[in-house]
Amino acid sequence: MNLRTGGRPARLILNPKRKAPVCFSNETLDNFVTNLGISLRDMEKLRNFIRTKAGRKSVPSYCIRQASKKAKILKDVYQCRSFEFDIDELPEKETRPVVNADAETLLEAALEAREEYGEVRLILVCIVPNIKETYDNVEILWDLTQLNKIPFKFVSDFKLLLIIVGQETANSTYSCPFCFINLSDLRDGEPGAKTLYLGKDNVALQISEECLKLKTFGDLSESFKKFEDQNCDKKNAKHCHITVNLPLFDESDEMHIIEKAVIPELHEVQGIVNHIFFDGLVPLLGRDNAMKRPKKLNLISKHYHGEMFEGNACRRLLKEADLLNDSDILGEHSIFEINPFIQTLKTLDKLVNASFKSERPDDSWQQHVNELKRVYPATGLSNASKVHVLLEHLKHGLYNLSSDPLRM
Ligand SMILES: [Zn+2]
Repeated sequence: MNLRTGGRPARLILNPKRKAPVCFSNETLDNFVTNLGISLRDMEKLRNFIRTKAGRKSVPSYCIRQASKKAKILKDVYQCRSFEFDIDELPEKETRPVVNADAETLLEAALEAREEYGEVRLILVCIVPNIKETYDNVEILWDLTQLNKIPFKFVSDFKLLLIIVGQETANSTYSCPFCFINLSDLRDGEPGAKTLYLGKDNVALQISEECLKLKTFGDLSESFKKFEDQNCDKKNAKHCHITVNLPLFDESDEMHIIEKAVIPELHEVQGIVNHIFFDGLVPLLGRDNAMKRPKKLNLISKHYHGEMFEGNACRRLLKEADLLNDSDILGEHSIFEINPFIQTLKTLDKLVNASFKSERPDDSWQQHVNELKRVYPATGLSNASKVHVLLEHLKHGLYNLSSDPLRM
C-alpha cells in the first residue's frame, strides 16, 4: 500500500513475512578475504557495503578487529631480505627480494592463530619472484626457512623433487624420483627379470626387482659420495644415479623418498593426459580432428614449454572419454584404433577417483592399476615416467599416506 504524503512516498506493508536475516560469519569473510588476497582496509569497505545492503546485523561488528589480530599474529614472523639467485636465460646471478619466515616460528604462530580463530588452511613460508628452479636457488630458501626443523610432507612436480633430492634433471636417465629404474629399462626392459607389463607392439617388458627398489635417503648419500670420489665430474653422473648434490631434506638413511614426497595428483594427471593427447591422438587422428573433442568441451590448450592442457581441463578430458567415439572425430579411422585410448582414459579416470581423495581410498584402485597395465600398452605410447609412477608406486604412496599421522 503506497501512502500519498507531502514528501517522499511512504510504503506500508501489512502483515509482513519475516525473512531470516542474512548473516555472514567471521569464517566466511575470512575465507573470502584470504582467497582474494585483499587488505584489511578493503575488507572494511566490503563490510560496510554488506551492512548497507543486507542490514546492520549481517556482519559481526568485531570482524575487522578479529581479522587484524589474526593477520598480526602471522605478520610479525615474516621478514624481507635480498639474495643473489640464478635467473632464467641470464648468465649472471641477480638480486631478488625474499619474504620468508622461520618455519618453526611460523608453525607456532599458525597453531596460536588456529586456537583463537579456527582452522588455518594455507600458510606461505617463503616467496621470491622470478627465479630459476635450481639446486643452489632452492638451497638458499631451504636454509632461510629452516624447513627441516619441522615435520612435513613434500609435494611438487618431479623436476623440482629430483632437484631437491640432489639428482640432475637435464639428464633423464633416472627420471623416476622414487626408484632406480632407468630410461632404457622403461623403454626396452631387461632380459631375465620379472615381466611387469606389456610394452610397445605387445613385447613383454622385463624389469628387474633391483631397478624398482625404492630409493632411500641413504642410497642418495651413497650415490653422492661416489660422485665426489669421481671428482664431481658431471660426465660420470650416470654412474652414480645422476646424484650431483646431497638431498636438501634432512631425513634418516632408512627413509624412502616416497615416504617424504607425496605423489602429485595434478602433475600426474596433467602429464599422462597430455601425453595421450599430443603424442597419441594428435598423430593418429590429425590435429584438426583430435582438437574437436576439447573444442566440444570448451577446453583451450595453453603454451608453456610446448602445448598442453592444464589440470582441470585434463580432468574433463578424462571424464568425457566416450566423446572420442564420434564420426566427426574419427574421420576415416575405425573405432578399433581409438578404443585403446578410450579404455585408457576411462581406467585412468576411475583410478584417479578411487585413489586421490581426502578420505581413505577404497581398495578398487588396485584393480584399476591392473586394468591400466593391460589397456595402456595397446595405445602404443611409451611408458613415460608419470605412467610408471602410477603403475608401480601408487601402492607405496597410498600406504604411506594412510599410515602416517601427518596425512593431509
Ligand atoms: Zn619408479
